[in-house]
Amino acid sequence: MPSDTDTAPLPLPEARRSTQIQILNGRFDALSADHAVEELIRTIRTGERGVLSTVNVAILMMMRSNPRLQRFVDASRWTVADGQPLVWASHLRQQPLPERVAGIDLIDQLCARAAQEGIGVYFLGADGETVRAAVAALQSRHRSLDVRGYADGYFGPDQAEARARAVADSGAKLLFVAMGVPRQEYFIEEQWENLGARVVIGVGGSFDVIAGRRKRAPALVQRAGLE
Ligand code: UDP
Repeated sequence: MPSDTDTAPLPLPEARRSTQIQILNGRFDALSADHAVEELIRTIRTGERGVLSTVNVAILMMMRSNPRLQRFVDASRWTVADGQPLVWASHLRQQPLPERVAGIDLIDQLCARAAQEGIGVYFLGADGETVRAAVAALQSRHRSLDVRGYADGYFGPDQAEARARAVADSGAKLLFVAMGVPRQEYFIEEQWENLGARVVIGVGGSFDVIAGRRKRAPALVQRAGLE
């Protein structure tokens, strides 16, 4: 298992298009959630590839002591701020971030657009029952969602390549990986060439929330920036 300080070169595409805003040790794209979703759909349609990282304050802190995670986020094609405090901090700059972009909201919005566009989606992470329940919940919300496959996120390093190739074989163009930070980032980095999917997003513990096994903070707390 590679350590946190491994210096393997990142195989991730580096192209960045939107305006970037530096907050502490993170560089964030000034994208609204709608804008981010359309950018990802456009990328899938044109056959390009990229990773989107959703970063909150806790992850920024983790990046400070984990150079491998810092490099991964720096090399992601898009980085969005998954926390109201980061959006507030950006208001001290000339060009603020338009809004918080939460991974869990992106999943729902992207599934809606993927269903419209006939884009195949794959869900990898959480335990088997949770990922199944999350997929069922998303399919009931987005009836024509083309779920190419799903699998739990509990596997050893010897199985990682097979898991990645299963995603590629499914033909999914959009992949959500919900294995917690930085486990999911290490997996995406190591398996990038085997995954096939065009857009890949690490979404932490989101499947647990979608499956109803973990609750989001109440809306008032989210608005107060305390989620
Ligand atoms: N998880 C996983 N594989 C693992 C460990 C965790 O798929 O080897 C999943 C776990 O089931 C949960 C998500 O990763 O759905 C986030 O896990 P955790 O809450 O431990 O991480 P955090 O949200 O604190 O980053």
